[in-house]
Amino acid sequence: MSYVHQDYIATAVVLLLLLTVATLPSCNLPERPGYTDTPTIDGEHYQVHSPMRPQPPRAKPLENTFTPPPSDAIVLFKDDLSEWDNNNWDITEQQVMTCAGGGDIKTNLTFGDCQLHIEFRIPEKTQGEGQNMGNSGVFLMDNYEVQVLNSYNNSTYADGTCGAIYGQFPPLLNASRPANEWQSYDIFFTRPRFNEDGAFDSPPKITVVHNGINIHVERNLYGPTRWRALATATPHPDRLPLRLQDHGNAVSYRNIWIRDLEQIN
Ligand code: MG
Repeated sequence: MSYVHQDYIATAVVLLLLLTVATLPSCNLPERPGYTDTPTIDGEHYQVHSPMRPQPPRAKPLENTFTPPPSDAIVLFKDDLSEWDNNNWDITEQQVMTCAGGGDIKTNLTFGDCQLHIEFRIPEKTQGEGQNMGNSGVFLMDNYEVQVLNSYNNSTYADGTCGAIYGQFPPLLNASRPANEWQSYDIFFTRPRFNEDGAFDSPPKITVVHNGINIHVERNLYGPTRWRALATATPHPDRLPLRLQDHGNAVSYRNIWIRDLEQIN
């Protein structure tokens, strides 16, 4: 075999390799939704809504997490909207309230330190994907969102998945149930205390149990949850309402009760 012939073979092999790599279908790469032009969260080493932040591993939800209110709880929803600030949500079936496109809804009462139980259901049919698939949210003190989303068969950035402290902390585990099944949050929240200069004396602290699985353990929050922006300490009153988010999806809620831990000695 001549040297010239060997050169031809080597060139052909290189060209073939290049052609193979160039024509590999891009769908072999997992899609990573998120943002790469957002600020980096102090102490987390990830940008807000980073597509590179690891997704929470799956955990099997527990059964029977639909707890009735204890004797000292305030029932915020059983079968009417009398504890809420508007009637723009629908009572779609017995003891179920559903977001109907009328905006967020807030409690008439205000709370600080509290224990909250809330049950939610993602609609089976939602148009869109990612942040548009079953999006709502439970805002403690009107400011601190525990995300509600279809995270059973839906892809989004980790700090926006169901149970995330939105834009700050993904849940430790993905304990989501499928759409159209009821799910529960049990949330233990300690409000922030502020210094006179507006900085935290102690930040808001949150523990969240999703379908019986602990997904945040005494998490110190950076501040009110934000979209595409850093959360920072933002002074506010000691008591504020609970808010449920209208994000354009017909998410339902039932059996909402709260224990006001600052009224119990
Ligand atoms: Mg939300």
